[in-house]
Amino acid sequence: MLYIVVTPIGNLGDITYRAVEVLKKADIILCEDTRHSAVLLSRYGITAPTRAYEKFSEARVADRIADELAAGKEIALISDAGTPLISDPGKILVDRLRERGLPYTVVGSGCAAISALILSGADTSSFCFVGFLPEKRADRERAMKKFADMQCTLVFYVAPHDIAETVAYLGETLGARKACLVREISKLYEESIRFTLPDLPENVTLKGEMVLVVDGAEKSAPYAELDVKAHYEKYVAEGLSDKEALKAVARDRGVSKSEIYAQIKRK
Ligand code: SAM
Repeated sequence: MLYIVVTPIGNLGDITYRAVEVLKKADIILCEDTRHSAVLLSRYGITAPTRAYEKFSEARVADRIADELAAGKEIALISDAGTPLISDPGKILVDRLRERGLPYTVVGSGCAAISALILSGADTSSFCFVGFLPEKRADRERAMKKFADMQCTLVFYVAPHDIAETVAYLGETLGARKACLVREISKLYEESIRFTLPDLPENVTLKGEMVLVVDGAEKSAPYAELDVKAHYEKYVAEGLSDKEALKAVARDRGVSKSEIYAQIKRK
């Protein structure tokens, strides 16, 4: 198991008993900065070995950590302060664990929305907390107008008796987006159920406390409607030099500059 452990954002007293226990028992503690975390760890007599886990090397080391987890190691991940994955490293590791079906959990977050966001595997770089949707359909529709086009992850609180209706409603309103129902966070039956709206699997237990995390609206490329030449000319009109425009079009379309150049010359 990977334990994503929330640590204090300032006052070292703001840590949970379970977080301390998990850190004490870990085989390895991955720290954004081992020297920085040494202060917190020594304050609580935590002597587990630490290892640097920083943003720049995440992609390179994530597989090795996944291998260690698969081999049975108990690993904790902390950032310098607060919650890993929230403007801090960890997302690449979580993505890798999900791909490989390896378990992870969050320890010590005092907010179900943040824990659910991390557990869901959705994009954590920007998100919007929606909370409970209004009960009346007209109010709900007014509220959803605000959220439907947002490109960030949406986080909903849902009462168990409303989940089936909410999922159907969001399917109608938002279309076939990826979603994750996160149940019973930090309790015995914690689980994260991924599905595409509105197809919530039939065998899911719809009891207990739950949060629904839904992907943001698709980012349609601003050049999607343009042919290559118009795309290039748009950049030139915006003030880029010929060379810069060529480079920008190649980057946007994921092809080489020479290919773009050939297409523009041909027209
Ligand atoms: N103040 C709380 C917080 O920071 O998360 C939320 C209070 S709100 C009245 C209660 C809702 O939070 C529940 O209906 C559920 O959507 C969510 N929630 C609270 N605890 C949860 C848990 N352990 N697992 C999943 N969702 C939870």
